[in-house]
Amino acid sequence: MAVKRTKSARAARRRKRRMDRVEHDLTPAQWSALQEAWGGCAYCGAAGVPLQRDCVLAISRGGRYTLDNIAPACRSCNASKCNEEVTHWLRRTKRDERAFLVRHYEIGRAMAQRFPATLDDDMDDDMDDDADDDVVA
Ligand SMILES: [Zn+2]
Repeated sequence: MAVKRTKSARAARRRKRRMDRVEHDLTPAQWSALQEAWGGCAYCGAAGVPLQRDCVLAISRGGRYTLDNIAPACRSCNASKCNEEVTHWLRRTKRDERAFLVRHYEIGRAMAQRFPATLDDDMDDDMDDDADDDVVA
């Protein structure tokens, strides 16, 4: 029991440290590459509107401001989605859930090839401590 508690506490500390720096995880180059790849709002397809950084998995749900978790969203979608779980929100608001998930996957792969170092760092960080913890990436 003592081991488990220690491990959890350590993972929690790591998560907190990670949260403290999340705002800076995405570089300007990565952000513009993401906007280019999506070509508009990731959720409704609106183009030619100002796009905001939306965390696909909300920060409050353990998401981070990283390349694989950021999608450009128009103000309306971003405000509507807020902290809701993404697939639940897509379904509830009758947006195209399947199209989003497919593109999110494809763009994620393209971004991983374009910015390999960033994602590697990220994965190492996750695997170190959280692999045997209760966190599902
Ligand atoms: Zn939108």
